[in-house]
Amino acid sequence: PAMLGILGGGQLGRMFAVAARTMGYRVTVLDPDPAAPAAAFADVHLCRPYTDEAALHTLADSCAAVTTEFENVNADSMRWLAAQGVPVSPSGDCVAIAQDRIAEKTFVRQAGLATAPFLAVRTARDLEGDLSPYLPGILKTARLGYDGKGQARVETAEAARYALSEFKHQPCVLEKLMPLQTEISVIVTRSARNEVTSFPVAENQHAGGILDVSIVPARVPAGVAERARAMAMQLAEALDYVGVLAVEFFVLQDDTLVINEMAPRPHNSGHYTLDATLTSQFEQQVRAMCGLYPGRTELLSPVVMVNLLGDVWGETGEEPDWEILLTAPNTKLHLYGKAQARIGRKMGHFNVLAASAEDALEQAQAIRETLPRRG
Ligand code: ATP
Ligand code: MG
Ligand code: MG
Repeated sequence: PAMLGILGGGQLGRMFAVAARTMGYRVTVLDPDPAAPAAAFADVHLCRPYTDEAALHTLADSCAAVTTEFENVNADSMRWLAAQGVPVSPSGDCVAIAQDRIAEKTFVRQAGLATAPFLAVRTARDLEGDLSPYLPGILKTARLGYDGKGQARVETAEAARYALSEFKHQPCVLEKLMPLQTEISVIVTRSARNEVTSFPVAENQHAGGILDVSIVPARVPAGVAERARAMAMQLAEALDYVGVLAVEFFVLQDDTLVINEMAPRPHNSGHYTLDATLTSQFEQQVRAMCGLYPGRTELLSPVVMVNLLGDVWGETGEEPDWEILLTAPNTKLHLYGKAQARIGRKMGHFNVLAASAEDALEQAQAIRETLPRRG
């Protein structure tokens, strides 16, 4: 059977590996962490840095196709693999755009799609002009931020300049704080033959800057959901994207949609597809990288996904008693096999299927209330 390669071995890589092996492929994971969650499902674990030459040669020599699950993977490593003749999806160029908020937001604008008003801040000088179009705002580091890290809310120009110095003058964007009605996301998949599918729109609630709950279908008017799917597909086309692309949106008070950011890989808000669509986002990733026909994406049941953070593990790291969750109707538990539970660390999630999104949400919240919480 053909070998598929994945750069990154976190939970996204683990769920990719499960999907790939279910479809009969073998899997090589490149991840420097010996305890990478995907390692348990990999045929080969290259426990090396993402730029390690020997490891990249092994991938080039042994893999029929390569993908990524880690958005901060070295884009040049991906370009090098592609230059060896291995199909690499998404491309290093697309990943490079998604890695840098300045490039990302500029690209989205150039594709004719809306973002929040933003200012590219490459040096302190960029904060010397009139900042009123961006205030009150959020200063975000251009690179390496996730789960709300690398962000500072700023009311004044003075505060923006102080925040930049706190970020050690890394390149940033200053983005206007938008009045959000809600947040939604779309996962779109595009094949090399330009076959495009999108999964149903998820409504996302965050807690402490981390995704907490995804509700599907999103409780927005049908027209809003359709526009979000069309915008996500337009972005994928503009990028000439191959693979799975997650697009996060803000829904403003007047139902206007703006693109917040994208991720060049499956996304936490798409974990509902493991149980509520025939094809999961991970199977779709396998299909796209292998040039196979995309799978069906219709929602089979309303669903709510709840993230399980290390916060519900005990003081000494012991796992919660899952009895209530495991005996609840139409509920499915997914755990990522991480040894260390830390506050804020994504350890697993559960999906609750029900007749309506509201019912699923109610059941999910009732289950969640039974779980312990520290921190
Ligand atoms: P992720 O973990 O999704 O990658 P991130 O750290 O890259 O997150 P963003 O998605 O940019 O950060 O922002 C995190 C959250 O902060 C958003 O989901 C939203 O709730 C809030 N937020 C970010 N930018 C704005 C804005 N311009 N106006 C209002 N809220 C915002
Ligand atoms: Mg992000
Ligand atoms: Mg985000």
